[in-house]
Amino acid sequence: MHNAAFDALALPYRYVPFEVPPASLERAVKAIVPLGIRGVNVTIPHKEAVIPFLDRLDEEAERIGAVNTIEVSAGRLIGHNTDGRGFLESLRERNVDPKGMRVILLGAGGAAKAVAAALTTASISELMIFARTPARGEALAERLRALAPSLKIVFQGRDFSADAPADRGRPTLLINSTPLGLKASDPLPLPLSLLHPGWAVADLIYRPYETPLLQAAKAIGAKVVPGLGMLLHQGALAFEIWTKQSPPLSVMKQAVEAAL
Ligand code: NAP
Repeated sequence: MHNAAFDALALPYRYVPFEVPPASLERAVKAIVPLGIRGVNVTIPHKEAVIPFLDRLDEEAERIGAVNTIEVSAGRLIGHNTDGRGFLESLRERNVDPKGMRVILLGAGGAAKAVAAALTTASISELMIFARTPARGEALAERLRALAPSLKIVFQGRDFSADAPADRGRPTLLINSTPLGLKASDPLPLPLSLLHPGWAVADLIYRPYETPLLQAAKAIGAKVVPGLGMLLHQGALAFEIWTKQSPPLSVMKQAVEAAL
């Protein structure tokens, strides 16, 4: 999507992948400026490990505690994180307004951290986290409570079916941030009987385009938000950081849809 966008705006850049082993991360980051690289995306497993090698973080990356985009500015490396805003934008695109909603977050990994930090700025009413590793769920809840002390944020349990909230009729945004749904053989992240037609259901997975969870949610009339929207919008925001130009969103969308 980035190369399609560079071509559309006749910018003389190329977006290329570098697979960097963890032991080489510092040397790779130190090479960014001397190699004349204009900007970088950072992905698994480097989003947190890269932080000590940067000159500074912007406020969003600081809040999230992870970096997915590096900007080179006057020879200095600035860490950004566009995942959370990309997610909020994907909600907006699907007419889901999180304001006043209870958010149920399944999973407490890197993507969950970015999405949840962004949601604490979106006037939600409550955030409930489910994670199979309680220490990770508790740690995420604690980190988020420090960001938003007046918001109710709880680690609810390991298993949604065991600790599902009783008041299912409440306006709720359910987010799957686990990898369950990537493979056809995966179990569902929660029993479908516990979904509610009034909910909005987002899945961060972008391949398949609609996971079995989203298909089931759609079938009962819930609003659904596929992960492709977050992928597109985090990319568009990174494009803007690097080039200071408005991203050609429809070109990027077409390219990412064709690639996937
Ligand atoms: P991660 O850091 O590895 O976190 C994954 C989370 O899911 C952890 O809480 C993990 O629990 C949990 N989990 C893993 N396998 C599970 C299972 N079998 N049952 C229940 N929980 C399980 O990964 P991530 O970076 O957050 O990515 C999560 C998903 O988001 C991936 O599918 C990724 O492709 C997607 N993603 C999408 C975008 C986008 O732009 N749309 C961006 C980033 C990520 P443990 O801590 O116990 O392992």
